[in-house]
Amino acid sequence: MSSYLASFFLLFLIVVHPKSVQGQNENPPTWKAQVLANMEQRASHFIALSRRIWEIAEISFEEYQSSELIASELRAAGFQIKTNIGAMPTSFIASWGSGKPIIAILGEYDALPGLRQEAIPEKRPTGMLGTGHGCGHNLLGTAAAFAAITAKEFMKANSLGGTIRFYGCPAEENGSGKVHMSRAGAFADCDAALTWHPDDRNEPGMKTTLANEGAYFRFRGTAAHAARAPEKGRSALDAVMLMGHAVDMLREHVPSETRIHYYISNGGVSANIVPEFSEVRLTARHPDAPTLDAIWKRVVKCAEAGALATETKLEIEIIGALANVLPNDALARLSESNMRLVGGVRYTQAEREFAAKIQALLPQDGLPDLNSAAQVFPVQEGVTFWSTDVGDVSWQIPTGEIRAATFVPGVVPHTWQSTACSGMSIGQKGMLVAAKTIALTAIDLFQRPVLVGEARQSFEKRRAGRAYSSKLPPDAKPQLKPRAN
Ligand SMILES: [Zn+2]
Repeated sequence: MSSYLASFFLLFLIVVHPKSVQGQNENPPTWKAQVLANMEQRASHFIALSRRIWEIAEISFEEYQSSELIASELRAAGFQIKTNIGAMPTSFIASWGSGKPIIAILGEYDALPGLRQEAIPEKRPTGMLGTGHGCGHNLLGTAAAFAAITAKEFMKANSLGGTIRFYGCPAEENGSGKVHMSRAGAFADCDAALTWHPDDRNEPGMKTTLANEGAYFRFRGTAAHAARAPEKGRSALDAVMLMGHAVDMLREHVPSETRIHYYISNGGVSANIVPEFSEVRLTARHPDAPTLDAIWKRVVKCAEAGALATETKLEIEIIGALANVLPNDALARLSESNMRLVGGVRYTQAEREFAAKIQALLPQDGLPDLNSAAQVFPVQEGVTFWSTDVGDVSWQIPTGEIRAATFVPGVVPHTWQSTACSGMSIGQKGMLVAAKTIALTAIDLFQRPVLVGEARQSFEKRRAGRAYSSKLPPDAKPQLKPRAN
């Protein structure tokens, strides 16, 4: 009901006080108010879809039901569906219309292991069991599909030319799904891509992310009785620990935006056997890919040092590599003007109480105000300290990625709190902010080809002649049965 009232308020703003909508120098076209009102009427259907995917919570490459739920919505809306893009059974492309421009809307739907949580403001269940939507991808995929369907209906009703596509992108969390889709040429003919990510604030995207590279470092030594004949053994675990120590010392001597994290995925099997085999899973990140390349070479030296000192053999398997996001100025500014029309997330009294309980359990230092969810933050440059396979798409075609306040302010992704928010009305309201903003932006691109040209210019300017290439080895296949990562 409150959002219904909000729509009226929005209409009032548009009709009576056009200049009061920040960032708009002229009256927003009336079609935008109509699109938003239509979306509001159909919101409950998509909220239910997002909740269903939240309940299923399928992890990377296992999103069979989730992808089919979204694909069936698009099929019913008249889209043509192609599946198994990049040899991934849970990927698909839904397409409607013909000719240029071709606008892609990217959706994800994978969950995370260990983050199952009820949609309540206290941790339950305890024990970190089960899968959960701690990154809000149930909202991400649903909003993207809602936006694509809305754009299609507008194009049909207004006889607009062009092609709208929804990309069902699997395994964002643990599988570099979009990298494998890229290798299949899935984005080659697109003019622009639009997407979003759940967050604790509404922000049109102009920030980059961290490029990353991840691998298993495996050491093979010689087993021996740890007491009877230790001199005959060569410990693979010793190699792992030396590598870890070297990496920890390396941290002091890398650029400050670097991130390196690892865990020992195999440390041997018994205290009385010199470990014959040990394994480390390590990821390194930096916002600039060439800088990351140089850091990665030094990480490899740390591993080689461990193998040299312990007389063990080293084998490295690169299993993930993502590009940083190349921001797009034109798409960010266009998204900003639309997001300001849509407005932020306004909490009901019950939602305020939910949010206050969530915030009470967070570190209190620097906690943002609850009212910040109602704001739309301005476009700004900077780095978001995470990595996404949207980065790889953004180096191929102009890409606009916005953020919407699906999480209570102060909540970070990959926590029980973010899973809780993604299954209830706060997350669902943020999802609608994203769906509406992307729908308006996509329709703008179809209506005004000059905007597609501006997005291309921004892309070329930022790219500055650098070509896209993935660091993932050319023969790397999708890890359809992913290991713990
Ligand atoms: Zn995510």
